Amino acid sequence: KPIDLAAKLEQIVDDVNMEAEEKGLEIRFYSNKRPITVMADARRITQVFINLLTNAIRYTPEGGKISVVMEDKVLDRAATYTCVSVADTGIGIPAEDLNHLFDRFYRVEKARSRHTGGTGLGLSIAHHLIRAHGGFIRVVSEPEQGTTFTVYLPLD
Ligand code: ATP
Ligand code: MG
Repeated sequence: KPIDLAAKLEQIVDDVNMEAEEKGLEIRFYSNKRPITVMADARRITQVFINLLTNAIRYTPEGGKISVVMEDKVLDRAATYTCVSVADTGIGIPAEDLNHLFDRFYRVEKARSRHTGGTGLGLSIAHHLIRAHGGFIRVVSEPEQGTTFTVYLPLD
C-alpha cells in the first residue's frame, strides 16, 4: 500500500518526543515538508523507526540530541531510494560490534546494556523488515560521539 513516509515519520517523532524530553534529550525532524510516497506496510515501517528511535533514546545520555533527517532522492546501487537517518549523540558502538549488530539477540557488551532492558532483537527485526521492503540499512558510529542509522527504501 502507498504511504506518505514524511507524514508517518512526523507522527512517529511526535509519539516518542515525550519519552525523549523526559530523559532530557532533544529530538528533531528535518525534511523538506513534501510528501514522499513509498510502497510499504505502515505498521512495519513504524516498528522499524520506533526501534531506531527507542535505541537512540536508550543509548544517549541526558542532554543529547537526536535528529531524524529525511532525504527524498538518493541514487545508490543503480536504483532510487528515499533515505531516512536517525542520528544520536550517544555512547556509540565499538567498530568490532558493528558487523554483529543486526544478528538476533546481539547486544553490545552485556555489562553496559544490562540495565537498559531490551532483548537484542530490535535491530535484527528492523533489518529483516527493511529488506522485505526492498531496502537496506547502514550504520556509522563513533564511540563516545554517537551513532547514525540510515534506512534506504526504494522509490518506484
Ligand atoms: P530490543 O530492541 O530488543 O528492545 P536492544 O535495543 O538491546 O533490545 P537492538 O535494538 O537490536 O536491541 O540493538 C542491539 C544493540 O546495539 C543494543 O543492545 C546496543 O548495545 C546497540 N545499539 C543499538 N542502537 C544503538 C545506539 N543508537 N547507540 C548505541 N548503541 C546502540
Ligand atoms: Mg532496540
